[in-house]
Amino acid sequence: MKELIGDEFQVGRGKICLVKGDITEIETDAIVNAANSTLMGGGGVDGAIHRVGGPKVLEECKRIRAAEWPDGLPTGKAVITSGGNLKAKYVIHTVGPVWHGGNRGEPELLAEAYRNSLNLAVSRRLKTIAFPSISTGAYGYPIEKASRVALTTVKEFLEKEDKVDKVEFVLFSAYDLKVYRGAARGLL
Ligand code: ADP
Repeated sequence: MKELIGDEFQVGRGKICLVKGDITEIETDAIVNAANSTLMGGGGVDGAIHRVGGPKVLEECKRIRAAEWPDGLPTGKAVITSGGNLKAKYVIHTVGPVWHGGNRGEPELLAEAYRNSLNLAVSRRLKTIAFPSISTGAYGYPIEKASRVALTTVKEFLEKEDKVDKVEFVLFSAYDLKVYRGAARGLL
């Protein structure tokens, strides 16, 4: 599956792009992994990234766990590894919130996951970054709500930060792309 249909929005000096596709096929400075706190891989996009990225990505995750986060990466935080066998140079691993109905800080934690990922990219001088729709799979965050948090957070970031050229949302289904498009129309 390649980048098929898409949209592009200028925000500050950067661009936000919406595409349908498989994030493991994207050629970019960094792709973001919707990881779980173990950083040991899992289902969904996490499983796909580790499958394609290969043992190098997992080895680096293990080292990060041992050195920095022995109890696991907390929700909203982000860490970076190389891309292993992926086309992307780096993988930024972040943990989105599990949806519990919306009153347990989910929107702020989801925004933190996007912000910390973007800050990490900037600290490594990365220019292009691709996100999946964090938390809207196994973690159950309603995509209509999550898309608004995701787009608003990235927009506010690009308005303040001129060092990122392109932030791409790689949506896995036509429906997900449609939801993000609808949200973008109102917000960007
Ligand atoms: P979470 O646990 O954060 O909810 P999931 O991986 O279960 O993470 O789902 C997050 C989103 O990623 C879902 O919309 C899912 O359809 C999507 N997804 C799964 N595989 C891929 C992939 N290869 N590329 C892009 N998005 C993917």
